[in-house]
Amino acid sequence: MRVLNDYYCPSCRAVHEQFGLAGAKLAACVVCGTNAELIQAAPNFSLESVSGDFPTATQRWEQDYQRRAAKAREHGE
Ligand SMILES: [Zn+2]
Repeated sequence: MRVLNDYYCPSCRAVHEQFGLAGAKLAACVVCGTNAELIQAAPNFSLESVSGDFPTATQRWEQDYQRRAAKAREHGE
């Protein structure tokens, strides 16, 4: 079964979506080509946000995501 997974690259901090096997832990980063890690189930990630345990990290992740998304759109033209 192939699903759309979200991957986060610890090297360049890019986030991308990629079709792959359900639960596939690694995928090549579309930006730098190193191993990007599967972002675990959305509910867990949301809980961290809501709990406020990692507000700064979460905010930074969101800012990075938005910046990367904007950059990707530029490059996509
Ligand atoms: Zn990367």
